[in-house]
Amino acid sequence: MKIQEVDARAIFAKYGLPVPSSRLVKNAEDARKAAEEIGCPVVVKAQVLVGGRGKAGGVKLAATCDEAAVKAKAILGMDIKGITVEKVLIARAVDISEEFYVGMVIDRRSRKPLMMVSPAGGIDIEEVARTSPEKILKVVIDPAFGIMQFQLRRMTSALSADKEIAKKVGGILASLYRAFMAVDASLAEINPLVVTPTGEIWAIDAKIVIDDSSLYRQKDAAGLRDESAEERGEVEAREAGLSFVKLDGSIGCIVNGAGLAMATMDMIKHFGGEPANFLDIGGSSSPDKVIAAIKIILRDRNVKTILINIFGGITRCDDVALGLIEAKKQLGLDIPLVVRLTGTNEDRAREILKGTALIPAATMEEGVKRAIKAAS
Ligand code: GDP
Ligand code: MN
Repeated sequence: MKIQEVDARAIFAKYGLPVPSSRLVKNAEDARKAAEEIGCPVVVKAQVLVGGRGKAGGVKLAATCDEAAVKAKAILGMDIKGITVEKVLIARAVDISEEFYVGMVIDRRSRKPLMMVSPAGGIDIEEVARTSPEKILKVVIDPAFGIMQFQLRRMTSALSADKEIAKKVGGILASLYRAFMAVDASLAEINPLVVTPTGEIWAIDAKIVIDDSSLYRQKDAAGLRDESAEERGEVEAREAGLSFVKLDGSIGCIVNGAGLAMATMDMIKHFGGEPANFLDIGGSSSPDKVIAAIKIILRDRNVKTILINIFGGITRCDDVALGLIEAKKQLGLDIPLVVRLTGTNEDRAREILKGTALIPAATMEEGVKRAIKAAS
């Protein structure tokens, strides 16, 4: 679960990270008041759960309180990657002389928390990883021992030659690790962590993703979900009990089982197509689920065709077939649907689909090839 910067800042502050004071507001007048309370200059920041806000114009500096109101008015209502900005954070602005990247994720290879630091902060870390990977230092932390002094020293010396700054940064990294572990984060990131001309250090951006599997015990996190600022499709999918990730291709996929969904995407790529999404409709696929899945996929204008690849074990192929026919009726579908159904009740499913406009496929490979053809 992605949480808003304002909430991530509060968590970081609780664990002792240096976070400039800020207020969340929903209109220009409150933005002015917040700026007066905090003291100018301030920075006005769109609260949306997508990356690259700054580049999209969602982060603006304001030297005066009047300017804060004007900038807030400009940002509120702005569309950032399909999400309308409803709230802005007014935060005390700091002078920047250096920008670092510091972040933590769970490293799948070592199955442990991984801390990453880079002196090239402020910009997109994926970009740094692509163009100058040597500028990123990665340190695997064993949770049985916690973060070790020698690990902190390696990281701080990679960031700054200044002993005073390195010492402060060491404390910050240790706090970041504690915050990451305490909230069961799958990602915690400060980009940038800045050094001011007078040698102060501030975390001026905050990003936390909380592991969904731990929400049952992260009681405080329950109130932090912000659906208005999330990708619509992902919200709807969660509500319908589907596991969905949007991608950039043209072939929508409806598959049961995460493994088969991955294999389907791989095969689409293998034969030269591009999947538009990952979607696992899960074990029992009632007609309702199929309809919900198609609706979510059709929200994406890039989708030219949908490939339905179902292996019927617990899932009954005839259920899926009925769902498809119902969906076609309800939604007035005009894009090609390629269907591969195999397993439990597949004969009955074939009967149901006979004479419809759905494109049948006997094997997965045939289905993938037909979908690629239909999409081009
Ligand atoms: P992001 O684009 O969503 O990552 O938003 P950030 O919070 O990282 O802000 C983007 C950029 O705005 C930063 O990299 C800074 O260059 C600038 N910025 C943000 N806050 C401040 C601030 O307090 N002072 C100054 N001088 N620049 C800031
Ligand atoms: Mn940032």
